[in-house]
Amino acid sequence: MTMPVPSTRVASRGWYRGDCHVHSAQSHAADQTPAQLTAEARALGLDFITVTEHNTAAAHGRWAAAAGNDLLVILGQEVTTRTGHWVALGLARGQEVEWRYGVRDDVLDRHLAPVREAGGLCVAAHPHAPYPTGVLMYPFDAFDLVEVWNGLWRSDRPWNADNEAALAEWGRGLAAGVHRGRWQPAIGSSDAHLAGQLGRPHTVVLADELSTVAVLAGLRAGRSWLADSAAVELSFEVVAGDRSAGIGDRVHALGEPVVARLDVLGVPSGLVGFHTEQGVAHQQPLPAHGSETVEWRFSGADTGFVRVQVRYSDGSMAAITNPALVSP
Ligand SMILES: [Zn+2]
Ligand SMILES: [Zn+2]
Repeated sequence: MTMPVPSTRVASRGWYRGDCHVHSAQSHAADQTPAQLTAEARALGLDFITVTEHNTAAAHGRWAAAAGNDLLVILGQEVTTRTGHWVALGLARGQEVEWRYGVRDDVLDRHLAPVREAGGLCVAAHPHAPYPTGVLMYPFDAFDLVEVWNGLWRSDRPWNADNEAALAEWGRGLAAGVHRGRWQPAIGSSDAHLAGQLGRPHTVVLADELSTVAVLAGLRAGRSWLADSAAVELSFEVVAGDRSAGIGDRVHALGEPVVARLDVLGVPSGLVGFHTEQGVAHQQPLPAHGSETVEWRFSGADTGFVRVQVRYSDGSMAAITNPALVSP
């Protein structure tokens, strides 16, 4: 069984684990300092975190001392508009994003643009959060990424009906958009406000090195998967003849059967689902020890992508991959 090399925390290509939606005491209802959060991130085995205070960049400068070669801190902001929240990833230090508008003002694009000009990414946040102004009323395709899994202040099994709805909506958009080259990769973030919430879930991204530019490039390309915790590990590829593609990459199927192959660790008695544009195309239970290689053969003519969901035995989510793409 081939597993990804563990994050080496050096300047080399690898899979890096990070939490892209984190609040410190600078945010309403949050209580941790940068030093506390970075200590927690290191203890959890995270390689990067993104600072996303509500509507302010005032605390950006406080993070420099808490970061280090082993832990990258990416600067960002959570933008709480009147009709939904979005997260900016990769801002310049002190760069603030306007938040005082709603969907009927029709100005979202104007405020997304400076983030992209700074090399950053715009994320649709917790699209179905069940409180006033928390539900996202902008279309997913206005953004670069969709936070389909949000910890919503819950430190224990952060999966719920709101995430289920976001995942279903994202999956529908993926099926409709992949063949046009128009889809938004998924990410998962804790939205941590309090101690003990960081990292559940988080996103694992393939990057050329542990730097802001490289991590954002991996996220933008969808070379990433979403993990409930660092106890969950997986690798996924699709193979056609002598060609293969990993998560976020494309394989050309020339008429031969295509094999989707998942190696997974850390989900005892879980359930693996392979999803295509036809829905759940293949399911397989995992053994009690939680590790397995799961393979499924299909025709490249049947779907433009395959992606994976792995659930625990109670139905809550352990991992979600972005798609591996298939084309003739
Ligand atoms: Zn929010
Ligand atoms: Zn938040």
